[in-house]
Amino acid sequence: MFDTHIHSLFSTDSVMDADQACGSAIKLGLEGIAFTDHLDYDFPGEIDFLIDFDEYFSVMDGIREKYKDRMKVIRAVEVGIQPHVLQKSEELIRKYPFDYVLASIHIVGGQNPYDSEYYSGKTKKEAYTRYLEEIYYMVRNLESFDMLGHFGYIVRNANYDDRTLRYTDYSDLFDMIFKKLIEHGRGFELNTGTYRAERPDVVYDAEILKRYRQLGGELICLGSDAHQADHIAARFGHFAQLLRDAGFKYTVHFENRKPVFDKL
Ligand SMILES: [Zn+2]
Ligand SMILES: [Zn+2]
Repeated sequence: MFDTHIHSLFSTDSVMDADQACGSAIKLGLEGIAFTDHLDYDFPGEIDFLIDFDEYFSVMDGIREKYKDRMKVIRAVEVGIQPHVLQKSEELIRKYPFDYVLASIHIVGGQNPYDSEYYSGKTKKEAYTRYLEEIYYMVRNLESFDMLGHFGYIVRNANYDDRTLRYTDYSDLFDMIFKKLIEHGRGFELNTGTYRAERPDVVYDAEILKRYRQLGGELICLGSDAHQADHIAARFGHFAQLLRDAGFKYTVHFENRKPVFDKL
C-alpha cells in the first residue's frame, strides 16, 4: 500500500522530518509514500504555508535516492486553493516536476474551517454547503491537479451534535463534483487522518464511495495526512475494507503525474 498524503518539516505544521517518515513507513511495510507538503498562498493568520521548491526538490531527490531499494518516495504537493490564488498556484504547479498534485480547500471565504469561528452563526447545512461549493469551484477551474483532497476537512473541528458529512444531505453538490472529476480523469482521496481515534463520533459515509462508483468513478487513494510519525497509514486496514465493500479493487498513487494502480 501507499500512503499518498504525508507532511514533512517543509510544512510548518508538521513535526516529522522526511527521514523519520520513511523509517516509519518501512516499518509499517508500505510500498511507498507521497510527501504532500503545503502550498497555500494567502493563508490567513500567523502561519505561512509556502515552500522554497528548489530546496524541496533537492531534499526530496536525496530522500528518494536514499530509500530507493526499500520503498518509493513520491514528490508531491498539497496545494490549498482559494479562488483568488488559483492562477498563481497553477503557475507554480506547472513550474516544477511534481509526481503528484493533491488539491485541497483549506479556506472558505477567508475563513479556515479548522477554526471554530468558521461555524459560528452557520447551520451545519450552511457551513458544509459553502465548503462543498468551494470544492466544486476548484474542480471546475483548476487545471493542473491529479486528485481532490479530504472532503472530511469540514468535519474535523465542526461543533455540531452530529458532524458526519453524509452524501444524501448534499447529493447535488457531491454529484456535480464527482462528474467533473470523472470527466477530467481525476478522483479523490479518502483521508483517513480525519477518522483517527480522537474523533470517535465521526464516521465516513460509505454512500459517498458507492455513489462515486455508480457514476463511473475509479480513481481513489488512501492518505493519512500524517504530520507526525505515529499517524502514518492511520486506519488503513479499516478503510481498505470499506473501499473493497464499496466495489473498489484498486487504489492509486501517482508517478510523473500518471496514476499507478495498486491492488486492494
Ligand atoms: Zn489539507
Ligand atoms: Zn495535508
